[in-house]
Amino acid sequence: SFSPTTKLFIDGKFVESNTSEWLDVHNPATNEVVGRVPKATQEEMLAAVDSCTRAFHSWSETSILSRQQIFLPVYFLLMFQKELAKIITLEQGKTLADAEGDVFRGLQVVEHACSITSLMLGETLPSITKDMDTYTYRLPIGVCAGIAPFNFPAMIPLWMFPIGMVCGNTYLMKPSERVPGCTMLLAKMLQDAGAPDGTLNIIHGQHAAVNFICDHPAIKAISFVGSNSAGEYIYEQGSKNGKRVQSNMGAKNHGVVMPDANKENTINQLVGAAFGAAGQRCMALSTAIFVGESRDWLPELVERSKSLRVNAGDQPGADVGPLISPQAKARVESLIQFGVDEGAKLLLDGRNVKVQGYDNGNFVGPTILSHVTPNMTCYKEEIFGPVLIILEADSLDEAISLINRNPYGNGTAIFTSNGATARKYTHEVDVGQIGVNVPIPVPLPMFSFTGSRGSFRGDTNFYGKQGIQFYTQVKTVTSQWKAEDATVTSPAVTMPT
Ligand code: NAD
Repeated sequence: SFSPTTKLFIDGKFVESNTSEWLDVHNPATNEVVGRVPKATQEEMLAAVDSCTRAFHSWSETSILSRQQIFLPVYFLLMFQKELAKIITLEQGKTLADAEGDVFRGLQVVEHACSITSLMLGETLPSITKDMDTYTYRLPIGVCAGIAPFNFPAMIPLWMFPIGMVCGNTYLMKPSERVPGCTMLLAKMLQDAGAPDGTLNIIHGQHAAVNFICDHPAIKAISFVGSNSAGEYIYEQGSKNGKRVQSNMGAKNHGVVMPDANKENTINQLVGAAFGAAGQRCMALSTAIFVGESRDWLPELVERSKSLRVNAGDQPGADVGPLISPQAKARVESLIQFGVDEGAKLLLDGRNVKVQGYDNGNFVGPTILSHVTPNMTCYKEEIFGPVLIILEADSLDEAISLINRNPYGNGTAIFTSNGATARKYTHEVDVGQIGVNVPIPVPLPMFSFTGSRGSFRGDTNFYGKQGIQFYTQVKTVTSQWKAEDATVTSPAVTMPT
């Protein structure tokens, strides 16, 4: 059967690993093996980081315009290619239309990277004293590394290496071992666009590769996106070794439904945001709080959810694809059962969904649990599946205080037609990304991805101005140019004021 071997990308060459340890890549709709990915050897990982180190010298000295001119063709290659979405659906499972969105949101980051000539501007202050001016440069920091999750095979790697590289850094990527294909194609596009050998290297693997990145002294910064257990470990290891780390992690995103909201709009938004991508989005709206009489809308919410079509991602009309693995499916099903056992009401059960022709796929249909309370397991854990859990509150204040007690702070949304309610909510809720009648408020790349509290470690977020700050260091120059007749004639021994 079709089973291509994923290559490493080292010093501008796609090379077969010498490792004896391989992991299978599966199609989540069938669980057939569609490829295999190496656990790179120590020697190969060293070769990759050495290549980044060698390339840094010249890449960091290339003009900012030539770096920009590499990402402009990357933008167009990405815009017109047809393969990435297909690879995403094959390896990750999401529907083709959703996979195209995954690519498009990454494309927008590349577009933003092409503005680097403005983004990297420093500051100047003339005449801070007589004949003296101060100005700053933003300069690259060295070799940077990215560690990516499985759920956005295009968008999340594209949050990482384009911004890091356009700033003048060289980059070591470790994609998710479950979805390596997309990053390999991105590397090919970057090479076709003219990126010099060694500016991007790609290694594969799991813990050993992650530990290598956390420990290697040449790596100055790590961008991580994934679960809390991995992200907290990487943040701690990387920081201990003196690296900058930005770590985007798990979530429990609440949507607050006010009784004055537009009902039709709200129900559609909730259904799309809870079950799209089979709930495998860090910004999935997985938890709804119905305030007051809006609880009467539940039967309609259930009906609308039933109308979604569960199918393999490459099938026409599919709305909800499979979960990434049989383990993920079993975990989601057990969290549903915990909900039932702990007293929640199962309004819609997607556990026994049958998808014709795909008996072995990791499918779970849209599932809704109501009467959920904060002490239940299904509330405390990130489910990361097509499960919407529902709580009720008597007032907006009660909803806000519930959300602010939850440890995560990735995203949230309020549905209301009252501006004052929306304003109160955006000011009082302690969550980093807030939608007002917008269910998944992922900021465009001119802003930054500002998840907070338990959903983020570090102090500088991904992309936008903060992304540029993360991947650069500032040099501040103070210079004095005096006319010849104003030469300093005696040493100044006191602190200049
Ligand atoms: P994951 O943490 O299992 O894997 C992410 C990366 O870390 C992979 O490259 C993997 O090889 C590596 N890894 C996994 N376990 C590790 C460990 N114990 N030690 C060291 N490295 C390890 O995450 P995932 O399942 O691929 O992705 C889903 C998670 O990512 C969810 O929690 C989701 O909320 C989160 N996520 C967050 C954001 C965000 O921006 N906040 C975006 C997407 C996904």
